[in-house]
Amino acid sequence: MDLGLADRTFLVTGGSSGVGLATVRALLDEGANVATCGRDADRLGRIGTHDRLFTAPCDVRDAAAVREFTRRAVEEFGGRGGRGVIDGLVNNAGQSRMKRLDETTEDDWRDELELKFAGVLNPLHAARPHLRAAAGASVVNVNAVLAKQPEPRLITTSAARAGILNLSASLARELAPDGIRVNSVCLGLIDTGQWTRRHAAAGSGRPYEEWQAELAADRGVALGRLGRADEVAYAILALLSPRASYITGTSIDVCGGVGRGIL
Ligand code: NDP
Repeated sequence: MDLGLADRTFLVTGGSSGVGLATVRALLDEGANVATCGRDADRLGRIGTHDRLFTAPCDVRDAAAVREFTRRAVEEFGGRGGRGVIDGLVNNAGQSRMKRLDETTEDDWRDELELKFAGVLNPLHAARPHLRAAAGASVVNVNAVLAKQPEPRLITTSAARAGILNLSASLARELAPDGIRVNSVCLGLIDTGQWTRRHAAAGSGRPYEEWQAELAADRGVALGRLGRADEVAYAILALLSPRASYITGTSIDVCGGVGRGIL
């Protein structure tokens, strides 16, 4: 099936690694224009070059920097009919904070809430006029099953994720009159830089595959393995596609059946 993404323009935050990078690559494969950012210019440079790819360093917590990144992306791709159009926004940039209540400082709480909320609101505010111009745009917030299934060892991230899921539902209603759909993907354990960094930090010397299989078993992943970034990208592309024109205000879990509750 043709997803109808060719020649459309998408912004993906945090596209230099993991889920963001897989999404950027999948969109380029579909013939879309893609603008992506990350904080580290060298990592962004390692994505490589492509006619339809625009990259620039930008921290999503910095509203002015996000506005400038968006302005340059719109300028790069020109838009349709003389209007600066963005057909979709993927709010993906971020990371999690592995801390329990007693290890969590006031700054940790502030930083985590700022990253999660600014990571959605700054790109949304910057892109909104361009999304409106698309008349049928889609916003996808990359979230976590932690939003619905909190873990005490990730207490700030779980709470912030729940807030973002709630925010997404409000945004879906608020932006519907402008033809902008808003949905989320809620991830379980996805094999990306986050987990390779944790494996390295654990310093156990155990092979990564073995460590990963035990992690999946410990967390109760029904499929018995971590997910791949490209498996998340497919779900994101499905929600970005104009084929999903009647889907808004909802979320798709991409988690291999983690947990035993009804999500
Ligand atoms: P990675 O660490 O592999 O990639 C994160 C990307 O976001 C990088 O490109 C990074 O680039 C960028 N980034 C991080 N902080 C900022 C910032 N402040 N401003 C701009 N860019 C930023 O992560 P994943 O692919 O694993 O995660 C993607 C999203 O999915 C994240 O929001 C994460 O929290 C969420 N998630 C991931 C899960 C997993 O198991 N992997 C589980 C649940 C949710 P740079 O560092 O150069 O800025």
